[in-house]
Amino acid sequence: MSSEQRDGVGFTTRILHSDRRDGIEHGSLHKPVHASVAYGYDDARDLAAVFQGRQSGYSYGRQSNPTVEALQRKLSGMEGGIGTIAFGTGMGAIGSMLFALLKRGDHVVSSSFLFGNTNSLFASFAGLGLEVSFVDATEADAVAAALRPETRLVFVETIANPRTQVADLEGIGTLCRDRGLIYVVDNTMTSPWLFQPRTVGASLVVNALTKYIAGHGSVLGGAVTDTGLYDWSRFPNIFEGYRSQPPAQWGLQQIRKKGLRDFGASLAPDAAQLVALGAETLALRMDRACANARALAAMLDRHPRVDQVFYPGLAGHPQHERASRLLRHPGALLSFELDPALDLFDFLNRLDVVVSSSNLGDNRTLAIPVAHTIYHEMGPQRRASMGIRDSLIRVSVGIEDAEDLLADFGQALAATD
Ligand SMILES: *Cc1c(COP(=O)(O)O)cnc(C)c1O
Repeated sequence: MSSEQRDGVGFTTRILHSDRRDGIEHGSLHKPVHASVAYGYDDARDLAAVFQGRQSGYSYGRQSNPTVEALQRKLSGMEGGIGTIAFGTGMGAIGSMLFALLKRGDHVVSSSFLFGNTNSLFASFAGLGLEVSFVDATEADAVAAALRPETRLVFVETIANPRTQVADLEGIGTLCRDRGLIYVVDNTMTSPWLFQPRTVGASLVVNALTKYIAGHGSVLGGAVTDTGLYDWSRFPNIFEGYRSQPPAQWGLQQIRKKGLRDFGASLAPDAAQLVALGAETLALRMDRACANARALAAMLDRHPRVDQVFYPGLAGHPQHERASRLLRHPGALLSFELDPALDLFDFLNRLDVVVSSSNLGDNRTLAIPVAHTIYHEMGPQRRASMGIRDSLIRVSVGIEDAEDLLADFGQALAATD
């Protein structure tokens, strides 16, 4: 089968068959776990050629591995990108990418609605001489107003957690294209099944593989995919030594060398296999989890003991129209404010199917009191500025039977003690 025909197949078909199409010994259907750190060469000249990039091959496990590369090809296909680098965690991917591409004096514009640890990471980079402006990324105009001559990169998440703001993904894409800026979209909350950031002009796509792509909550991983849309010859920070290949390769080359190799946040081969196994059912799981989230959001929205529900699938959500237009489904994460007359912790303890836990994107439904846990370190003032009340509960909706989820929330809300 030609590669064009192969590219024509659907999202899930492609994931399921990509390993064997690339050829595996013994007719294996799954890429095996290659655990070796080192690779030997009969002719030392070949070893030198691999080091010098004149020949493809493996040298050392921190930089490349056959099992990890099979996953990277799969992820590139899922995102419609030209190449992917996998990392040991989502934060490893984000940190290594920013470290590889930016230097002292550069300016970054980031959404202020941000995964807490990414927010904390930007604060650390600010201490190293990087300037970061946080803006309301639901409006491209706010990003435009923050741009400076030294701005190199814009960073947004598709659906922000916990309040589910949807960034002005198209408007920011147009802005970045016009200004020649790197546009990084963290696609974790949507996954490539709900949304491909490439379609709005993203340069680089981040995915925390830990979440929906793996789905089983049994492995950590992250990835950066180059969509091929950014012209790296316009980017001033590419080191001279990485400019020998065509410009399309420059960005990932520098992230691979300065990020993955020098920082070392590599994805282990056994972890790569666990991610790949989860990815096979991404579309099925997300369809189900999103349908559950819709049903739960509607039920909570009508409930007298719930003050407010944040879910882009609800007609009253400020970016409902945008989410409906751009995303296959409005996500599987919602949050809501419990009637303050109810004790938050007693309510969570009454839930039986739903687990009090901090992860998201797990097959199981997980709930967490936001202000007391993941946003505790920020303090009350920053929380107030982000609109995070003490009564806010985030729910990462899983793939349980919908009736069981609705019944569990129903009984926990009905109880009065
Ligand atoms: C979880 C998450 C990350 C970080 O991923 P880890 O694998 O936990 O390091 C980054 N971005 C978003 C949006 C996330 O939800």
